[in-house]
Amino acid sequence: LGLMVARDSIFMSIIILVSASPCALALATPVAVLVGISRAASEGVLIKGGAALENLGLVKMIAFDKTGTLTEGKPAVIDVVSFNGYSISDVMAFAYGLELGSVHPLALAVINYCTVNNIAPSEVLNIQSYLGRGIVGEYKSKNKSNSNDLNVANLKDELGSIRLGNPKMFADEIKVQLDGAIEKKLLELENRGLTTVLLMMDNKFIGIIAMADQLRSNVSGILQDLKQLGVLQNIMLTGDNEIVAKAIARDASVDKFYASLLPEDKLTKIKELTARYTYTAMVGDGVNDAPAMANATVGIAMGGSKMDVAIETSNIVLMNDKLDKLVLAMKISQKTRSIIKQNLFISLGVIGLLVSGGLLSITSIGFAVLIHEGSSLVVIFNALRIFKIKKN
Ligand code: ADP
Ligand code: MG
Repeated sequence: LGLMVARDSIFMSIIILVSASPCALALATPVAVLVGISRAASEGVLIKGGAALENLGLVKMIAFDKTGTLTEGKPAVIDVVSFNGYSISDVMAFAYGLELGSVHPLALAVINYCTVNNIAPSEVLNIQSYLGRGIVGEYKSKNKSNSNDLNVANLKDELGSIRLGNPKMFADEIKVQLDGAIEKKLLELENRGLTTVLLMMDNKFIGIIAMADQLRSNVSGILQDLKQLGVLQNIMLTGDNEIVAKAIARDASVDKFYASLLPEDKLTKIKELTARYTYTAMVGDGVNDAPAMANATVGIAMGGSKMDVAIETSNIVLMNDKLDKLVLAMKISQKTRSIIKQNLFISLGVIGLLVSGGLLSITSIGFAVLIHEGSSLVVIFNALRIFKIKKN
């Protein structure tokens, strides 16, 4: 009798061990995440890990950078104005020299304009970028260069300053006020919806360059789709001026926009919005967006970005630079989340049933093994359904 009891209890413990060993449970989440990440990858969406994939589906507020994110990031020079006896070519040649040191989308506009109009760049040294503001450098001043004195100290004196940037750069960094005539011209260009930058040589403004960038196709449709997926607010954050921002915000049909933001202002805004919405995303393409991207729940970079920082900081990269892939990524994320829940339910349920069956001695080892392995397969096949998510 003692032997029989021992045999029974050994059998029961084996049944319970088999029933409770968590194969399906262990597979439930990682299989779904792997399938989700591969499905996204097949559409050119790089998701850097399970947390990003799972969080995206919960996002309630998405902040979009303007230039290069909502717009193509391929601006063109529309108008150039020159002052103080300088020609349009002078203005553009200096801007060209400066922008050779920049990878900002506006730099490309200046460079393209000069290439088309056969304008060679003026030599600019010691170029420094001011994120979200503009770019500054030094030029060799012609006025002083006919001195025969080759003394190094005097050569230094021959460098003049050259600055290209938005009015904010001049107001904040250099504390210069615009004079009435320039301000009027600037306003007139801004009212045409143009992104404007001023060129200052030493302490004189010598020109304004006005540029325009096109909205990506179907932005408002994409934002609408995101709302269907549970996003409450689409917000635009931009370093560009209020008037341009307003026009783009209207065409893109974002719910709200904030203009004239420096990179640190974008960061503050994201922190504020994350405190309010808990799950947030920031989509951007520039170095100026990186701090904000790092502080949103999910940072998303446009793959067309020339800024490695943006891509490195992000949790998700839209590799082919297509904003509509964000909608698909969100669907994949939500599907993955629901598959994970189902899988956990299935695997825990099976364990519960088999363990109780074992305790009540109504399951055999063979049956326990079959159902146990079967549930692992169910969990895997369930996860594979993520592959079936349609593009649209
Ligand atoms: P956005 O937030 O729209 O992507 P940025 O923050 O990159 O824009 O830039 C904001 C503004 O700063 C531009 O609209 C422009 O006025 C100025 N700016 C920044 N970089 C440059 C540059 N390299 N050349 C000229 N202007 C620049
Ligand atoms: Mg940008």
